[in-house]
Amino acid sequence: MSPNFRSRFLAVAALLIFPAGLLFAQDKAGQKADQVKVDVKTDAKTDVKTDVKTDSWDGNRALATVVDLVKFTPRAMETPGHQKAIDYIVSELKKTKFDAVTQQRWIAREAGRTMAMTNIIARFNPANPRRVIVATHYDSIIKAYRDAKTPDAPMPGANNSGSGVAVLLETARVLSELPEAPPVGIDMIFFDGEEGPLSLGAGDPNFHSIGSPYFTERLAEFYPNAKPEKMLDFDMVCDRDLHLKAEQSGLRSAPLEVKKFWDIGMEVAPHAFERQPAPYAIQDDHTAFHLAGIPSFVVIDFEYEPFYNTTEDTPDKCSAQSLEAVGRTLVKYLYLP
Ligand SMILES: [Zn+2]
Repeated sequence: MSPNFRSRFLAVAALLIFPAGLLFAQDKAGQKADQVKVDVKTDAKTDVKTDVKTDSWDGNRALATVVDLVKFTPRAMETPGHQKAIDYIVSELKKTKFDAVTQQRWIAREAGRTMAMTNIIARFNPANPRRVIVATHYDSIIKAYRDAKTPDAPMPGANNSGSGVAVLLETARVLSELPEAPPVGIDMIFFDGEEGPLSLGAGDPNFHSIGSPYFTERLAEFYPNAKPEKMLDFDMVCDRDLHLKAEQSGLRSAPLEVKKFWDIGMEVAPHAFERQPAPYAIQDDHTAFHLAGIPSFVVIDFEYEPFYNTTEDTPDKCSAQSLEAVGRTLVKYLYLP
């Protein structure tokens, strides 16, 4: 993150004029995000000790997934890469114990477009009545609109959104090999349309995610008896210079869960996790779950300048170590009682 970006970013946050997209700096009560008094430095003790071995979570294997996904770029709706990404994710899941895969398919008509949409839902230990959702999005921005020189060029999307998909797939592989299952059943969801109906994310003033609200409006189809206990969302987590800060809307929705996750993260990878939360809120696939009354938070390093949504969002900006920091933390978190 450049100092320039930081000062501009915070100035914009203070003025509450985010151009839409990934960010909102004001919650429903009209409270400025930077005035929210929640933070991860609480006195409440959380027991983060888990014995689960996470050495088999392989950052290089996850990075190879990012490289694979970038080959399909763009992975936006109504592009050939979109279906290739779906096929790839489903075939990788079939190699794991997350092999009960459902494709939730529908047609979205928005912004003058008609789009075939697919959310991918993969269940692990489906007999366990306790459910936790681990999610990401797999659609990508249609073009590198923030690129100064070539704003119409393809946006490779290594970090946004290859990294989230890579974390989930590698976690699915690892959980499938561990001798004991976690105490909760896990539903991995790969959401479509996070980047909005024009696949421009924050570059579209009318940006809103499509796939996650579609899912939460039909929650009972997947959870007829009880709602999932919580939802974790992963986006933009492979930056070589990873600095993960808790985000404000997740802190409001699931403060104790955020604290547990960050406590583990700071033990697993103190260089990657920061105690001080970010002063802003981010709109991502966890947002629909807030509205559905399910505690949820996003793990994201939003400060990815100057590469964010440009032609420079390529795998060389990512590192295996960053992916491992996130993935190993996630596995330990899932084994908490
Ligand atoms: Zn994203």
